[in-house]
Formats: sequence, structure tokens, C-alpha cells
Amino acid sequence: MLYRYCERRSVTHRKVGKFVVAVEEGQIHALEVIASRARQNSCRVDLISGRQAVMLEPELRCAAALHSLDTGIIDSHGLMEALLGEFESAGGIFARCSALRSGHFESQGAVLELDDGESTRVTTRHVVNAAGIDAPLVAGMFEDFPDQYIPQRCFAKGTYFSLSGKSPFSRMIYPVPESGGLGVHLTIDLQGQARFGPDVEWVIVPEYNVAPSKRRQFYDAIRSYWPNCSEDRLNPGYAGVRPKLGTPASFADDFVIQSSETHGVAGLINLFGIESPGLTSCLAIADEVAARLGLNELKDEE
Ligand SMILES: Cc1cc2nc3c(=O)[nH]c(=O)nc-3n(C[C@H](O)[C@H](O)[C@H](O)COP(=O)(O)OP(=O)(O)OC[C@H]3O[C@@H](n4cnc5c(N)ncnc54)[C@H](O)[C@@H]3O)c2cc1C
Repeated sequence: MLYRYCERRSVTHRKVGKFVVAVEEGQIHALEVIASRARQNSCRVDLISGRQAVMLEPELRCAAALHSLDTGIIDSHGLMEALLGEFESAGGIFARCSALRSGHFESQGAVLELDDGESTRVTTRHVVNAAGIDAPLVAGMFEDFPDQYIPQRCFAKGTYFSLSGKSPFSRMIYPVPESGGLGVHLTIDLQGQARFGPDVEWVIVPEYNVAPSKRRQFYDAIRSYWPNCSEDRLNPGYAGVRPKLGTPASFADDFVIQSSETHGVAGLINLFGIESPGLTSCLAIADEVAARLGLNELKDEE
């Protein structure tokens, strides 16, 4: 859906492909499990030997690789602009700097109180709570919303280091996933700049500092599949925080799209735990939300 949308709206993207690599024989079974699940979901993947992988990516060291042929990169800001443009042409209004502070439901729908400097009140039939990391807080702002349906939040911070100079790989390179994240992997942006990350660091409160002292830890992780990496090419990049649901010891491993069938409040959809790949799946999530609200299915025009 996303590729088709990007084509239609001229959002820059490139299908660069991805390798998930087993750095030792003992990890090959994990690749087979991913391959089987990928195929069940109609993803085009090939399991290839370490030798075949190195022929395609000479800087790589691995025992085997899962080649995902359709993985790609997009201009995420371009995507947001395209979506916003379409929303506004359809008569939508995007109210910046207008935080929801409280809400309640009446017979005609939801009444929302906004903190926008003018205490604006909005009445609406449908509310989609897509507040990211704060979605559980926003659900709790609705009077009488049943507490038992508000998930516990925990935060998995992820830090990136950028690589100076030319990218050693033309595809994205991922290790076998670790608990809470996908492992320190290499991604490439549309300008060809490579970066490594994100790691998994459980934090009590979301914060976005990048600790230069993590360089050694990144270097060690990267060298398992790129032995020629040199530490002085790694520069502190940026950090993000994943909205996990549960606790660091036990967290949900999928998105939660919660509608009135679960919580009993007509017209309210809560999107909880929309971490990666939430951006990749944004159009599919929107379709699901529209269907649950009984709106016409969004048209996935060819
Ligand atoms: C480091 C990192 C790397 C990622 N990489 C990828 C990737 O490669 N591919 C991929 O598919 N996904 C990736 N993701 C995940 C992706 O960014 C998220 O899934 C996506 O942004 C979720 O979108 P969202 O709209 O649900 O929430 P968000 O993008 O978090 O947006 C929530 C919005 O709600 C607003 N808000 C919060 N509280 C209120 C309130 N009270 N009133 C009004 N507004 C409010 C916030 O200001 C924010 O604008 C990555 C995430 C991180 C952190």
C-alpha cells in the first residue's frame, strides 16, 4: 500500500532490499523462523548462504542471510506532507499546538477540551486517539473511560550512531532480532548516509540524550557482521523512544487497536503501542480504523 501511495503522490522512495544476517550457524534456525512467518504474510524473502550474501555485499561477514527483496526507504517527511495535503484538500483542518486536555461523551458524540490558548471545545462523532507514546494518557483524559482498558506504559529508548563516509553496504543490514528491538542494524537514507541503531535501553521517563560513551557498545555489535568497521567513523546521532505496553520483563509484541467492542465507548478508537513498523503500516492501520468506525473503506487506488 505504501509503495503504491508513494508512486501516486510522488513521495521519494527506493526499494533497496534488506539482509537479516545470522552471524553464526546457531542463528540460522532463527532466520528460518522469520522466513516462514514472512512467507505466511506474503513477503518475498530468500534464504541465502553466507557466500552468496558476501557476493552481493562484499563487506559483510555472516553464516547465512535472509534477503527481503521488497524492503525499502521513503522520505518520511514527504509522506507526512502528502497525507496532510490530501487531508486538507478533503476539508480537514490540522490544529497545531492544540493539546487535548480532557474529554467526555454525550449522546451526540465526544466533547473535547483543547489547550490552545483559547480553551476551544470541539464536538465530534469519532475520536481516534493516535497520541503515540502518550496514547494511554490521552485515553485516561476521557471521563468515565474504564481504567482496565488503559495499558501500562514502559519506554524502550533507542539510540542511533551515524557513520561518516560512504556506506559499506547498498542494502540494509539487520542482525537477528533481540528482545524489545531489531538489534543494532544499518539503515541507509535517501542521500546514501548510513546509520546504525537503534539499541534497546529501558528508561523510566522518555528522554532523548545520546550518550557518546555508547560508541564502544555499538562498535562491538556492528563488528559481528561488519568486521572492517572502524570506531572513529561512528558519531552520536539521535534517539527515539518506543511506546511499549507492559513492563520491560513482559510486554505486548503487537499493536493494539482498541474500539468500542472492547471498551464499550462508541466512537472512540485507541491506538496503543504503535511502534515500528507503525510508519510503514500507517495506511493499513488507517484502513482498519475506518472499518471499525463503520466509515467507507479507504480506497487503495491502483
Ligand atoms: C527511533 C525510531 C525509529 C523508527 N523507525 C521506524 C521505521 O523504520 N519504520 C517504521 O515503520 N516505523 C518506525 N518507527 C516507528 C514510527 O515512528 C511510529 O510507529 C509512528 O511514528 C507512530 O505514529 P503515531 O501517529 O501513532 O504516533 P506519533 O508519531 O508518536 O504521533 C503522536 C502525536 O500525538 C501528539 N499528541 C500527544 N499527546 C497529545 C495530546 N494530549 N493532544 C494532542 N496531541 C497529542 C504528539 O505531539 C504527536 O504529534 C520508529 C520509531 C522510533 C522511535
